[in-house]
Amino acid sequence: MREEIQHDPNASGPVCQHCGYLLRGVRSAVCVECGRERVRRLTFLDRIEFDAFRAALDLAGVPHEYSDPGKGMLGMATVAYGLSISPMILLTWRHIESAEAALEDVGLALPVALVDEEEPYCPCCGFALDRALDEVRCGVCGTRCAWYDEHGPPEGAEER
Ligand SMILES: [Zn+2]
Ligand SMILES: [Zn+2]
Repeated sequence: MREEIQHDPNASGPVCQHCGYLLRGVRSAVCVECGRERVRRLTFLDRIEFDAFRAALDLAGVPHEYSDPGKGMLGMATVAYGLSISPMILLTWRHIESAEAALEDVGLALPVALVDEEEPYCPCCGFALDRALDEVRCGVCGTRCAWYDEHGPPEGAEER
């Protein structure tokens, strides 16, 4: 096991977005280290898209936290891990499906997490995915995942 992954903000993997604790193999929706709810992190390269996502979530009343480096830290008090120069939204697992519905209403969609077939594990929570399916919703955290292929990421897919 690679210990340094806990402190690498660019590492994908089942890491607590609040405290950085590596939660590989932990099925709980609450971090066993800091006790906060585990989240899926959405990073945006495009500010307009970031604003559109937030507006849609606000409109539907879907709880979320976010970080907007252009305006300092707003909406989040104690995120010690994963600070980046890009705006991001944090969604708790139990709100992933309601967020999908809210975004669909305004013609947006949550990015599909891309997974290497050689390592069929959900990048959000680390649990195994069913390789028999083309596109699979993780049964633990609810993230929608798809497989990389030799043609590269499909349009609109999340970067890793
Ligand atoms: Zn934690
Ligand atoms: Zn998952």
